[in-house]
Amino acid sequence: MTTPTTDVLVVGAGPVGLLTALGLARSGLDVTVLEREPTIGDSPRAMTYLWFVLDGLAELGVLPDVEAEGLRSLDGLTLRVHRTGEVVEWGRVSLEDVTGRPYNNIHLGQDRLGRIALRHLEAQPGASMHWNTRVTGVDQDDDGVRVTAEGPDGPEVFTARWLVGTDGAGSTVRQAVGLGFEGMTWPERFVATNVRYPFDEYGYNDANMVVDPRLGAVVAKIDDTGLWRVTYAEDLALPVESVLDRMPAFFEAFVPSPGEYVLEHHSPYRMHQRAAESFRAGRVLLAGDAAHATNPTGGLGLTCGLLDLYVLHPALAAVVRGELADDVLDRWAAERRQRFVEIASPMASEFKRLVYHSDDPDRLEADLAGPRSIAGDPEKVHAAQLGMAGLRSAPLVPVAGG
Ligand SMILES: Cc1cc2nc3c(=O)[nH]c(=O)nc-3n(C[C@H](O)[C@H](O)[C@H](O)COP(=O)(O)OP(=O)(O)OC[C@H]3O[C@@H](n4cnc5c(N)ncnc54)[C@H](O)[C@@H]3O)c2cc1C
Repeated sequence: MTTPTTDVLVVGAGPVGLLTALGLARSGLDVTVLEREPTIGDSPRAMTYLWFVLDGLAELGVLPDVEAEGLRSLDGLTLRVHRTGEVVEWGRVSLEDVTGRPYNNIHLGQDRLGRIALRHLEAQPGASMHWNTRVTGVDQDDDGVRVTAEGPDGPEVFTARWLVGTDGAGSTVRQAVGLGFEGMTWPERFVATNVRYPFDEYGYNDANMVVDPRLGAVVAKIDDTGLWRVTYAEDLALPVESVLDRMPAFFEAFVPSPGEYVLEHHSPYRMHQRAAESFRAGRVLLAGDAAHATNPTGGLGLTCGLLDLYVLHPALAAVVRGELADDVLDRWAAERRQRFVEIASPMASEFKRLVYHSDDPDRLEADLAGPRSIAGDPEKVHAAQLGMAGLRSAPLVPVAGG
């Protein structure tokens, strides 16, 4: 292995990779990001940042920009049972006593979060970005990692002391280090759409789960210009090429006045519940979708990726600086995997079952009992919202003064 030329290579410039790189660069490390695409992708994906991920964005210095560009929301969970018209609303319960913020969640497309992260990263002296650079292989020894890539001008080699693979669910890094991706793939396809439609005129809150075995969907407000995200499901056996041909039938049945909706963007997705068998292999760490993939119902995918990186970047920076032994990274890997496998993944699977597979009336009644018992009771809603923070794990680097 040649002498490492940078402290950390980050593979993949999704939101998790860019924010990981930002955290490391802000700690004074040299960080190189490799991304196969020419720019940040803008297909409709994550857009909800729950209250307990916002502190991490604040620590990275990006929260003011996220607040300025995003939609701030106080709305809690809303379930709308399509067939009966029942609406179970948690309502607007402030968490300001805990968060210090006059809102709970922020809605903002993940591409825009990525662009904010990139702006901040580019201002860091130790950071460098390589677009159009597709990683093809990873080797490592006791001193560092060596990455081969196809760059804009042909094959390239990069070396570093550490590598963070944030290259998404199909991660080349994960495969190159021989880590399995355990779990299952769902037999449905999700179709994420950005549509213009006056959902608020029909009583929709900022974030809604529409419960129905045929017309189940997640409907969330993207901004104040009338743009909404509607994510629905269809059979994976249907041809992906004709998603757009089938889409009008869904919207005609779904929205109260079909003529009014305007499609701006759409993207079909396969969905999985999977986790890498370990989030660490020697000097290679996996975070975000490269480490774990979930169906997006409940918005826990990027949430978990953010929570991974918030703990990883200070721990890795401390290891690189020689302040901590590298077994701290084993603790990070084990804790983050546990949070995903034992909490996030089962929770997302339950949300998916409720929204899209409510065929059994008795089961539906049982599923609705919990949310109904909380709705309209501010103390219970407050407690339920705080309970979600169990997805976080504690910092592994001693906090100054703490
Ligand atoms: C419809 C939908 C809605 C969602 N909604 C939510 C939500 O509301 N809340 C939430 O928390 N999550 C949500 N998610 C999940 C969320 O989108 C993902 O968890 C998130 O994108 C993960 O970010 P990431 O940075 O880990 O990976 P990605 O965003 O997948 O980024 C990976 C990057 O790596 C690059 N790359 C891949 N291979 C290579 C290679 N070999 N070399 C170099 N670069 C490479 C890719 O081009 C890409 O830029 C949703 C997902 C879907 C599908």
